[in-house]
Amino acid sequence: MSADLHFDPIRLPPECEALRAQVRAFLAEEIAAGTFDPHEPGRGDSHNRAFSRRVGAKGWIGMTWPKRYGGHERSQLERYVVTEEFRVANAPAQLHFIADRQSGPILLKYAPEHIKHDILPRICRGELCFVIGMSEPGSGSDLFAAKAKATKVGGGWRINGSKIWTTSAHVADYMLGLFRTSPPTRENRRHGLTQFLVDMKTKGITVNPIYQMTGQRGFNEVVFDDAFVPDDHVMGEIDGAWKQATSELAYERSGPERFLETFSLLPELIRALGPEPDLRGAEGLGRLVAQLHTLRRMSVAVAGMLQAGQEPTVEGSIVKDLGTIWEQKLPERVRGLAAFTAPEITNRTTLERQLAFATVLAPKLTIQGGTTEILRGIIARGLGLR
Ligand SMILES: Cc1cc2nc3c(=O)[nH]c(=O)nc-3n(C[C@H](O)[C@H](O)[C@H](O)COP(=O)(O)OP(=O)(O)OC[C@H]3O[C@@H](n4cnc5c(N)ncnc54)[C@H](O)[C@@H]3O)c2cc1C
Repeated sequence: MSADLHFDPIRLPPECEALRAQVRAFLAEEIAAGTFDPHEPGRGDSHNRAFSRRVGAKGWIGMTWPKRYGGHERSQLERYVVTEEFRVANAPAQLHFIADRQSGPILLKYAPEHIKHDILPRICRGELCFVIGMSEPGSGSDLFAAKAKATKVGGGWRINGSKIWTTSAHVADYMLGLFRTSPPTRENRRHGLTQFLVDMKTKGITVNPIYQMTGQRGFNEVVFDDAFVPDDHVMGEIDGAWKQATSELAYERSGPERFLETFSLLPELIRALGPEPDLRGAEGLGRLVAQLHTLRRMSVAVAGMLQAGQEPTVEGSIVKDLGTIWEQKLPERVRGLAAFTAPEITNRTTLERQLAFATVLAPKLTIQGGTTEILRGIIARGLGLR
């Protein structure tokens, strides 16, 4: 095994627990005010501009970014706590979440100074929704086969082609998209892609809905027809986006949101089993909780590595692989354990509704953000096995 693989046993420091109490109090107020229902399946994936602005006002977006760009210079571990509490409460954070998790860090690294000063403070205030424009018809796992093209013209670039599975594009303000600016070379098939910041209001962009099995409009097809992007919206090196993509994926893959999308099933199961579960129920529940605890420790360890300025690509991939498989199996395991509970348990309706939702949601978990097979390829390479 490679000596480079680390899951340091990090504990969340005391300031994180003080923050956790503040986040819980805020979410309890929002629930009491009717902003969202923590028991309503899928709420965590919905967009609520007013809510995102209130989260921004609390200082919980762009938490780790420099103050000069509107950030709060807090730690990755504090950000971890906020993400975890929002997911567990099923809070509607989707509007700002992608910008907070990965688009902002990309802008911090690669955007020109005037763009950083313009956009990052607006993300921190919860005003902007970002989307990831990577996948295309025919180019998902193999990102570097992307064909949607950016052609150089006076003052900028013209974009033609399409992106697919673009989460939140129907409400988005900006996309960070990968577009082909040159053909690949014989020596490097990953050469020739450039990352652009695209204003979604640009003329020539059409967003077509794609519905998920849950019935939600989670993602979209985005079609570009001669859409103009100015020169200062090029992020990083022209033709060299492959050098940038890996760090984005480390942010995208390791967080607690990767295994907490249907977390609310677990407290419902605990309610259903009651204070004195039989041996089968206690054993099954104990197993699920122990596994979740381990996943959480691993995910916190990755947050610690991000805090230390490292790029934990392999560790992040392991968390996503194990976490999504755990969550994908959760509905089946909860259904099995709840099957022997008394028919008159008080939360039967809520449990059944959440189980039905989690069952149709589950297949996507091991596809979004990199499939199981792709993650295992990355892990194998990281361990020196291929
Ligand atoms: C809910 C959801 C949200 C998404 N949101 C976004 C988004 O916002 N932006 C975005 O850009 N994309 C998004 N995606 C797309 C996602 O990233 C792709 O679906 C994913 O990368 C897989 O690509 P694909 O669908 O083209 O499948 P393919 O790449 O065609 O894969 C098909 C199958 O072949 C396997 N496979 C492919 N290559 C290999 C290989 N080299 N070795 C072994 N097996 C292989 C895969 O594991 C998979 O099982 C989203 C997807 C989902 C499900």
